[in-house]
Amino acid sequence: MAGNEPIEVENPATEERIGTVHCADPALVDAAVTAAREAFAEWSQTPRADRAKVLGALSSLIGDREEELAQTITRDVGSPITLARRIQAALPKADVDACRAVLDEPEAQEWIGHSQVVREPAGVVAAVTPWNYPLHQAVLKIAPAIAAGCTVVLKPSEVAPLATEALMDLLVAAGVPHGVVNLVHGTGSSVGEALVGHPGIDVVSFTGSTGAGRRVAALAAATPAKVVLELGGKSASVVLDDADLTAAVKVTVANCYLNGGQTCSAWTRLIVPRHRHDEAVDIAAAQAARFAPGDPTDPAARLGPLVSSAQRERVLGMVRAAVADGTRLAFGRTDGGSLPDRGHFVTPVVFSGVDPTARIAQEEVFGPVLVIIPVDGEEEAVAAANAVPYGLHGAVWSADEGRAVAVAARMRTGQVDLNGAAHNPAAPFGGVGASGLGRESGAYGIAEYTTTKAIQFPAGRAS
Ligand code: NAD
Repeated sequence: MAGNEPIEVENPATEERIGTVHCADPALVDAAVTAAREAFAEWSQTPRADRAKVLGALSSLIGDREEELAQTITRDVGSPITLARRIQAALPKADVDACRAVLDEPEAQEWIGHSQVVREPAGVVAAVTPWNYPLHQAVLKIAPAIAAGCTVVLKPSEVAPLATEALMDLLVAAGVPHGVVNLVHGTGSSVGEALVGHPGIDVVSFTGSTGAGRRVAALAAATPAKVVLELGGKSASVVLDDADLTAAVKVTVANCYLNGGQTCSAWTRLIVPRHRHDEAVDIAAAQAARFAPGDPTDPAARLGPLVSSAQRERVLGMVRAAVADGTRLAFGRTDGGSLPDRGHFVTPVVFSGVDPTARIAQEEVFGPVLVIIPVDGEEEAVAAANAVPYGLHGAVWSADEGRAVAVAARMRTGQVDLNGAAHNPAAPFGGVGASGLGRESGAYGIAEYTTTKAIQFPAGRAS
């Protein structure tokens, strides 16, 4: 890896340089892991109440700085400012609160016969995060890890690293001791690989693409470290024949285009009864028209640019390939549309009448691209929903909640929202299959950073 090389950070809406971070070299990665190891000795012994206090302070500080954090993320990622305020900057506080609430409860005592089972902090965590929700993804690893008593080396995405610099200041101000959370910048192939393969790491927690996740798991296997993988998605929104079609389609389109479609859990496949397909397409196209790309600093903006020119080319390439394959374009354009002169903007896209096995219905696009899949009956709907290698999120829409629950139970995925239910920052989040393994958020997130120890008591001493 090339040590100390500058990485220029770009505003994707203006293509202007807005900052520089410096790539770590092997000695710096090593020093960060060593600092985390040294800090682990004391932090792992810190009383639960003290860790709760630090998390409480962190939550307050994030709350105080929410507006500034939202502005930073809008400049760094291109997220519309209203979304940046509502999700990018607000969710991290909720993530911390969910961990703090766990620490506020007394620790559960577990006995199996004459064995007491205790949970202990697992050690030093390598946290590698993506650019799409840069603060949320970092906090979603750091908060549960330090709640568990672990120490952390964070490597954020080189594409949008600025929010994590601000986070480091907040961690210090919250009273997180020196060495408990360490930050190294750099690309995945250099700094990322050096970190996840470092012998001083006990847990690798990776969020990113499925391809990179496979490589990370292989590197971590050599040491070996425990691995948590939060990977890509191609989630389905399943509309049953008794559902409110207008509400279901409108919410699905908004969910699909959230953050420019650059959301791992986005519902990018809308599965509808065949006899209502054309109606669904009309509603989706009308809704897509409301997502005109524009200046993300405008509070009315609903769709900003994609994060980089590479991401824009990738998305447009997939859209063109789908059109070339004969997929019907119900809304949008293959050339990106007439857009601002600068910035990595694309117009949103809706494909209709899509076969569940089509490439555009199988692969994660990570842009504002919705496919509408017509099906005959509930069996076919479930089969279509499960016909991808991914299994991260999903939705079911029905007037009959019992029916919706039964369909949700058959979906091979980590989360399902019924009839547009809200995100729960304390509920376990994560995937199956190509979407990864392990869970984040709240108690389940903390559990990933612990290891169990069984202590056997002599006969007559048990519980
Ligand atoms: P990415 O895989 O390119 O990079 C993610 C992070 O991993 C970055 O920090 C990168 O530098 C690092 N990295 C890349 N290759 C690496 C390697 N070989 N070794 C170590 N580190 C490496 O992903 P991205 O483009 O930043 O993010 C988009 C992807 O992340 C999408 O696939 C999206 O679905 C996924 N994602 C998943 C979740 C989830 O919770 N499941 C959440 C957000 C994003």
